[in-house]
Amino acid sequence: MLASTTARATLRRHRNFRGGALWCFHFRGGNVGCRRRESSRRCLKLGAAMAKSKFEYVRDFEADDTCLAHCWVVVRLDGRNFHRFAEKHNFTKPNDSRALHLMTKCAQTVMEELEDIVIAYGQSDEYSFVFKRKSNWFKRRARIFPTSIWLLLILITDLQTVVFATAECFDGRVVVYPSNQTLKDYLSWRQADCHINNLYNTVFWALVQQSGLTPIQAQERLQGTLTADKNEILFSEFNINYNNEPLMYRKGTVLIWQKVDEVTTKEVRLPAEMEGKKMVVTRTRTKAVPLHCDIIGDAFWKEHPEILDEDS
Ligand SMILES: [Mg+2]
Repeated sequence: MLASTTARATLRRHRNFRGGALWCFHFRGGNVGCRRRESSRRCLKLGAAMAKSKFEYVRDFEADDTCLAHCWVVVRLDGRNFHRFAEKHNFTKPNDSRALHLMTKCAQTVMEELEDIVIAYGQSDEYSFVFKRKSNWFKRRARIFPTSIWLLLILITDLQTVVFATAECFDGRVVVYPSNQTLKDYLSWRQADCHINNLYNTVFWALVQQSGLTPIQAQERLQGTLTADKNEILFSEFNINYNNEPLMYRKGTVLIWQKVDEVTTKEVRLPAEMEGKKMVVTRTRTKAVPLHCDIIGDAFWKEHPEILDEDS
């Protein structure tokens, strides 16, 4: 019976209301076909009734989480239980360059997948991604932003077969900034945080690793110290000039779009006399480039005015 019905069914192409293709099953003649057609009509009626059922009011409980239009949207992914993770993977203290480079590599790939990101900033176990003012990515739904970046990050790290991101490693938040100044202040805040934490960690681990203090003793030694005091401990006791520490550790990493010349070798087929020969081809591409520089002062923003361009 069913087989006979299926045999009578045909698949026809219609146009939906936007003019796109819409494929529907149609049943031809016979009692079975008629019954099926009536059954389809009943289903359609039931579907329409369910769409407007008395239960539909529950949709009113869904909060509107659309990010305010024309504002900068910042998504920050931040390490969660990262101490445990760092211990497990034997991270070098106070900074593990492998982990920092890997974070940046992942962030670069995220930017290249999501072109609406105009700038990203990373330090320690966090990365902030800034979306264009006019971005309409996922209709600017706040809860979708970190989730989708997070999923992308998992995909990237899985593809690179690096066991870096696990479901417990990061949490994400979205903050909307209404002006260029508030956005610059946000990024300055994260870079100042990088400096404060890195200076503390550099002295702390020098005291532990080189002076043999326990973590609690080192913590007590540093309690109440100012920036100048920490610099002095580093210089007088460990012969370390903090200003000579790598920029990546002191300033974090900024990712911005820049034109980069890529040089590749290509086999030439024509003309015949050059067949089989390889030649060097230079192609200019726009890529997410990592910089380790100051973003608190005006110099960076004057040098890269396109980042805060009103049309972005
Ligand atoms: Mg953190």
